[in-house]
Amino acid sequence: MHGLMMNRPLLISQILEFAAGNYPDQEIVSRTTEGGIHRYTYPEMAQRTRQLANALKKLGASEEDRIGTIAWNNYRHLEVYYASSGMGAICHTMNPRLPADQLIYIVNHAKDKFIFVDLTFLPLLEKLYEHFPDVEGFVVMTDEANMPETSLPRVYCYETLIKGESDQFEWPEFDENTASSLCYTSGTTGNPKGVLYSHRSNVLHALFVLSISGVPIDENSTILPVVPMFHVNAWGTPYFGLIAGVKLVFPGPALDGENLSNLIEDEKVTDAWGVPTVWLGLLAHKRQKGETFSTLKRTLIGGSALPKAMIQEFKEKHNVEAIQGWGMTEMSPLGTVATPRPSQRGGDWEKELKLRGTQGRLMFGVEMKIVDAEGNDLPHDGESQGELLVRGNAVISGYYENEEATKKAIDADGWFHTGDVSVISPDGFMEIVDRVKDVIKSGGEWISSIDLENEAIAHPKLAEAAVIGIRHEKWQERPLLVAVKEPDAEVTKEEVLQFLEERVAKWWLPDDVVFVDELPHGATGKLQKAKLRENFKDYKLP
Ligand code: ADP
Repeated sequence: MHGLMMNRPLLISQILEFAAGNYPDQEIVSRTTEGGIHRYTYPEMAQRTRQLANALKKLGASEEDRIGTIAWNNYRHLEVYYASSGMGAICHTMNPRLPADQLIYIVNHAKDKFIFVDLTFLPLLEKLYEHFPDVEGFVVMTDEANMPETSLPRVYCYETLIKGESDQFEWPEFDENTASSLCYTSGTTGNPKGVLYSHRSNVLHALFVLSISGVPIDENSTILPVVPMFHVNAWGTPYFGLIAGVKLVFPGPALDGENLSNLIEDEKVTDAWGVPTVWLGLLAHKRQKGETFSTLKRTLIGGSALPKAMIQEFKEKHNVEAIQGWGMTEMSPLGTVATPRPSQRGGDWEKELKLRGTQGRLMFGVEMKIVDAEGNDLPHDGESQGELLVRGNAVISGYYENEEATKKAIDADGWFHTGDVSVISPDGFMEIVDRVKDVIKSGGEWISSIDLENEAIAHPKLAEAAVIGIRHEKWQERPLLVAVKEPDAEVTKEEVLQFLEERVAKWWLPDDVVFVDELPHGATGKLQKAKLRENFKDYKLP
């Protein structure tokens, strides 16, 4: 027997209209690509979004058309998000840091009809557009005064396009399972794979995020998404932010420590979301200046492991709670968040820090388990290591037009294989040991490269650290630590090893330490272990 309740579709346009009506004076602030700060209210944002939807219709965009974007976090990008999905088209965000061949693949695989591009990335598109024969038009996200000369054909200026359009738009109603947005994951091998979100999955994911214990998000919050809108919808901030009525602060192109620090102070940011690398820069700036934050309360950090040393520094020096989250593009992206339960807070800090250093416990809407190489379920005993499998309402059921990848990732029971090796404690905290492909196999035992990196980064003279496996005749693989020193710091290999000796099992100790000026980072700011392994493939351990 079905319940007798209305079956209204969950749609992204519903978020927009609710937010505009319910939070009439709430602000959206952007550092613009042209320079300077732009601010307007939710209702003004909704008006311009409806104007854009009208303009897109006039251009010939219709339902299911892919609308590409290559842009920073700013208000125009937000408008494209809502206008394209709202009218039933698909907002396809692209990562400008991807190698050219991958971008070409993505635009053609997605069959983008229009591409919206920020000024910064215009030169990139000018180089590539000849490979995009099917794109019908390019929209440069600026006003007439800042519109540059360009070799792009079929080009429009954003502000000119929406000027004069009606600010009324009848958002269509359709099945909530309709595709709303598309984001390709930057696989380390092979072509990128498309993750096709639906209206339902995005709305539900937003509601799930708002239910996370210990991360209060409401009208009193001022959220700075440093995590890019060109990758996994900036972790859903544009959606849950508007549902909750937060003040949104978009950093635009200026992601260095000084600019972020100024923006956080000027706009009285309370919550900032982003990957660890970004906070390295911000903390270094604060250290250099000897300053602290006056309004910042929390940072949500994920995408790669959050070092305990960073949690500690945020707490001790700045009284800021650094909270680790774990997720994947395929999960919209959030899966787990490391907020201790009320009973686990405020006691022994070392114990609490240990919990906070894990990838955390489940967000509502996600299930997880670990399995061995044969696919047998492993116990959640805090010791057994296995591949982490997930399922949930905002987890992919398949990759966009890619059966082969889908078959590999989703098993017969509908679980998605994350490629992460994890342990799960009896009380539900999940800890990533490593990526299946990054774990160091030494004499039949596994060494977690992530654990070693976490310990190494705690050394005050190291700015960044990466551990990779180097082929070894006797042990099969042994760990090599590749590290970047803090600016002007003097530190030797022996000092680093001695430091580690007190912190990790003896047989985990790296066989060698190499100092480099910088480590390779991928398009989402993550360490590129594959590239590093390539750079060190002929390296001879002492
Ligand atoms: P994102 O879009 O969040 O960068 P990707 O889909 O590109 O996610 O990569 C997901 C992978 O990133 C995860 O499978 C995991 O290996 C890694 N990852 C994400 N968050 C964390 C975290 N908090 N700690 C360790 N690894 C993480």
